[in-house]
Amino acid sequence: CGIVGYVGPQQAAPVLVEGLTRLEYRGYDSAGIAVLNPRSTAHPSRVVRAKGRVRDLEAALPARLAGTIGIGHTRWATHGEPSEANAHPHTSFDGRVHVVHNGIIDNFATLRSRLAVDGVELTSDTDTEVVAHLVARELAGQDGAGLGFEDAVRAAVAQIDGTYALAVLDTANPDRIVVARNGSPLLLGVGDGEMFVASDASAIVRHTSQVVLLDDGDFASVTPDGFRTFTADEEHTARSAVTIDLTV
Ligand code: GLU
Repeated sequence: CGIVGYVGPQQAAPVLVEGLTRLEYRGYDSAGIAVLNPRSTAHPSRVVRAKGRVRDLEAALPARLAGTIGIGHTRWATHGEPSEANAHPHTSFDGRVHVVHNGIIDNFATLRSRLAVDGVELTSDTDTEVVAHLVARELAGQDGAGLGFEDAVRAAVAQIDGTYALAVLDTANPDRIVVARNGSPLLLGVGDGEMFVASDASAIVRHTSQVVLLDDGDFASVTPDGFRTFTADEEHTARSAVTIDLTV
């Protein structure tokens, strides 16, 4: 239902929680965030999810949740009941990939059974979870020849049908968020040495009025210094920021 992402010098968790709070008016049944902390070998990423309101998520957050890159989600369940296990972010079997998603993956049942046949244990009843596993499989590759992060997201998205705004984290690439859009709103917020991702500008207006509206079929790789947009065929696209005027 709602997506927010952050990469930059600030601690990500408070930015994400505040952004999710601003998306509350859209309605939702659960919420969650994933934060990367490359300095921690024990916990290179942390995921916190809760059924209920953003304040229930806040209550579940540990006192210290360090990390300057992260993604957050408020969920309006379409596949799988509202629960902590079905809340986003969803995580891949190897713990490497975290995904938030708005929309519906139409061919999720086929993908779930294919993954199950290959021995991947599914931990939710959502249509979304498959995306995390598909990206992780492309990153790992066969015989160790895995794809880079952006290519892995393109290869995973090529396998899904449906509507999506996706934001993806890879613990092995803790400097970027990769996003994809088809049929669900998604935009980037351009800050000074920091970047934001959101399904709705209201999530980030407190931080910037410079936004890049993504089109259907767009992918973007988002780092603190900027962004690069491209298509499924790896053609680069030119998307520029516009100034939005939203009263906070
Ligand atoms: N279809 C996904 C789910 O049920 C995403 C729903 C949403 O857009 O919040 O988990």
